[in-house]
Amino acid sequence: MPPALRPVGVFGGTFDPIHYGHLRPALELLETLELSEVRFIPCRIPVHRDTPSITAEQRLELVRLATVGQAGFVADDRELRRPGPSYMVDTLASLREEIGTTVPLCLILGSDAFRELTTWRRWRELTDLAHLVVMQRPGASLVLPSELEAFVAPRLLDDSLALHERSAGSILLQPVTQLAISATQVRTLLARGQSARYLLPEAVLTHIHNHALYRSPVVSNPTPQ
Ligand code: ATP
Repeated sequence: MPPALRPVGVFGGTFDPIHYGHLRPALELLETLELSEVRFIPCRIPVHRDTPSITAEQRLELVRLATVGQAGFVADDRELRRPGPSYMVDTLASLREEIGTTVPLCLILGSDAFRELTTWRRWRELTDLAHLVVMQRPGASLVLPSELEAFVAPRLLDDSLALHERSAGSILLQPVTQLAISATQVRTLLARGQSARYLLPEAVLTHIHNHALYRSPVVSNPTPQ
């Protein structure tokens, strides 16, 4: 397989802050699925949750610090450069404009996010632009709403390397190391003045401390719509 055709992984999220529950599974996907890179794309304005407690630029900086030492990891600021809410369908379209139509794109999602897919803007178009790679997230069931189940069934892959054969359109459920870490947990610990050490990279934690981030009381996530 020529390197130019290895799939590009796209990992979107709020990353408020990025933690090992994002990083370790992403590294496993980079290696197991033979991706050329994983692009971490923090959203500017999240569509499905409260406004984060730190700015998008600060979240991006934490993503940069977390990814800088790992070959194949890229911090991508495209959602910060686009006005308005951050819709993944627009992000994938902008990546397609950049890399063309032949390189496979793999949109990486945790199973909790995947279960909510039908609430995403123009969600059916996501598989026109990319494959979907779903990582099992601890505590999240993969019982899907019937509309999503019907969408998934004909697109489901059992061989991960088939992701290399087409540029988009398939769905892969990929087991990853189960790390029951959430950004909510990290924010809660920091707001209480407790240690978040070993849940996220030391460089990220140092930056958080040096800039006194996440000191204010935590706002819990709303119920997804
Ligand atoms: P919060 O606790 O604030 O809701 P989070 O930890 O879920 O945040 P996000 O930035 O919202 O982090 O997640 C981005 C993506 O990473 C989502 O697709 C989510 O499902 C996935 N993800 C987050 N944490 C994990 C984890 N521990 N294991 C697997 N996937 C994860």
